[in-house]
Amino acid sequence: MSQTDIKMNYVQVLHNIKNACDKAGRNKEDVTLIAVSKTKPVEMLQEVYDAGCRDFGENKVQEIMDKYDKLPSDIRWHMIGHLQTNKVKYIVDKVYMIHSVDSMKLAKEISKEALKKNVTVKILLEVNVAKEESKFGMMSEEVKNFYKEVIDLPGLEVCGLMTIAPYVENAEENRQYFVNLKQLVVDIADEKTDNKSIGELSMGMTGDYEVAVEEGATYVRVGTGIFGERNYAI
Ligand SMILES: *Cc1c(COP(=O)(O)O)cnc(C)c1O
Repeated sequence: MSQTDIKMNYVQVLHNIKNACDKAGRNKEDVTLIAVSKTKPVEMLQEVYDAGCRDFGENKVQEIMDKYDKLPSDIRWHMIGHLQTNKVKYIVDKVYMIHSVDSMKLAKEISKEALKKNVTVKILLEVNVAKEESKFGMMSEEVKNFYKEVIDLPGLEVCGLMTIAPYVENAEENRQYFVNLKQLVVDIADEKTDNKSIGELSMGMTGDYEVAVEEGATYVRVGTGIFGERNYAI
């Protein structure tokens, strides 16, 4: 994919997000587009950066570490992939947000490492709303209790929920899951007694981000739609 294509794709996705916001009566400023750059070389990320993007998503610790020093320091790195506890220490002071917290063990490790490095880490709780066997994330029924426990850990700011919806041909099939995730975050916000804010919703990928925006996404994670197909063979 040529440089101009990447920039055009990025601008097109922003445009589509704005249209979805208009349709739903939302402000486009309330939705952040995360360019999911896994497997892509830093030159390609730089193209999207030059077009104005500051939020990039990666799913591997090693890849974040490799790219971190080679790109501008005002990038907000989003860890969107499954995170092993023994790797938390490498990225805890490099990432803007960890989207994939789905166990108490992981949350405690992030808390511990955050305290060591004297940072506060923004996290999202990953929910398997569609109950797919192949996916990480907690069940919807578990989220409220999990939130009550995790909220007390120091060094963490629990900002909201994240989900990876099923791969579908027709994005409409995922609308129900986005509605469900939104409802979950509203329920938690209604019930909670602390003064912390929870309201971020990371949902929607290349195939369904417009539907996700219509249903309240505040972060969409788009890879293929910006950078083209990923080639895992190289
Ligand atoms: C790869 C990935 C994406 C982006 O997927 P595309 O379909 O290429 O947009 C989004 N979220 C997560 C968690 C991913 O791993």
